[in-house]
Amino acid sequence: MFYLLNFKKNNMNMKIFLTRSYILFLIIFSLVSSPQLIHGQKIEQKVIKGILYSDKTPVEIIISDGKISEIVRLEKENKTPEIYLAPGLIDLQINGYMGVNFGNPDLNINDLRKAVKSLWKEGVTTFLPTLTSADHEKLIKCFAVLSQVFDDPEISPSIPGFHLEGPYISPVKGFRGAHLEKYIRPPDWEEFLQYQKASRNKIILVTVAPEIDGAIPFIRKCTERGLVVSLGHHNGTAEIIRQAADAGARMSTHLGNGCANMINRHLNPLWPQLADSRLTPTLIVDGYHLTPEEVQVFFQVKGPDNTILVSDAVDLAGLEPGEYIKDGRKVVLTPNVVRFPAENVLAGAALPISVCVGNIMRFTQCNLGQAIDMASANPARMFNLNLGEISTGKRADLILFTIEEGKLIIQQTIVAGKVVYSRN
Ligand SMILES: [Zn+2]
Repeated sequence: MFYLLNFKKNNMNMKIFLTRSYILFLIIFSLVSSPQLIHGQKIEQKVIKGILYSDKTPVEIIISDGKISEIVRLEKENKTPEIYLAPGLIDLQINGYMGVNFGNPDLNINDLRKAVKSLWKEGVTTFLPTLTSADHEKLIKCFAVLSQVFDDPEISPSIPGFHLEGPYISPVKGFRGAHLEKYIRPPDWEEFLQYQKASRNKIILVTVAPEIDGAIPFIRKCTERGLVVSLGHHNGTAEIIRQAADAGARMSTHLGNGCANMINRHLNPLWPQLADSRLTPTLIVDGYHLTPEEVQVFFQVKGPDNTILVSDAVDLAGLEPGEYIKDGRKVVLTPNVVRFPAENVLAGAALPISVCVGNIMRFTQCNLGQAIDMASANPARMFNLNLGEISTGKRADLILFTIEEGKLIIQQTIVAGKVVYSRN
């Protein structure tokens, strides 16, 4: 019996080894670099082959000077490699990763480098480090440290800006979620400008509750300055939500979360946000924060072009499962989510956005192209980033991946034409 089990295991290991060697072989032959003389200048060119994620046809992509310069359709071969090629993933809401907490005032640039490089392994080529409600000094300090990223040429291409979620949200239990009540306050434009200054004007997304004092003029001012405002952790009425969208709000932060467990079936903040097509929701499709049915309904109402996936991952994401002390509380990291056993509630998301891409295909039956676009093209469009699409002129942020049992397995990640991660 033992022998048989071991034999099966060895057999399985050999199968995995052969599959990985085959994938490595394909990647080596799908990525060719050569310097070309263009207008007398030596420009590094790379050629990448794979199956285009959007229509599942084989293509060859030529990258010059960090950008996509040509897309060549290839003949279908009998033995087409099952390696997909897609734009790199973009995560608009992530609080930390691999033990690095972006909201830790003792954070340093090396911590941030570690988080960026760990996220490259998950196919995330761009993300907005997200800070939640905290006291004034802490927010100033964290933004000052985070903004040092712009002096680091290696990782700065992956961080176009920051997301400030709070402190201008609902103080009401349930709606405030895990944000601590003592840090929640009404919007203060002068105070916000101090955060903006500390971040080197790189706060590009702000999550606000529209019903609190001064929120509507605050939304208008942010919009006039070109920031994107998202409604979140709120209990806004239909009228207030309409006013917020009129003032320029364009998104709903993790729709279905940051909401009390018990709400009125008619009068609650979900229906008006679903009804207003000006609001693009972000969804945490980790399989724990929303039920598959909620994801199906939100997706059917908003459609694949008007839905964005986020991880909302916390610092423990990526670490070994087990018990941890977080903010002085004992929490448990399962392989999929962070739980707070003392109150039997979720304490944070722990899965990278690549998992959410696989989940939404399973929950909604949407296709691979739509699922990837919800984590690349759609967020890129919201922030006018020259990313998120495989078309000429776009920055060459790409992922090569296989799909195993409905999950994306990232084989290679490319940022601005440079290979930053290879699985083998
Ligand atoms: Zn939140």
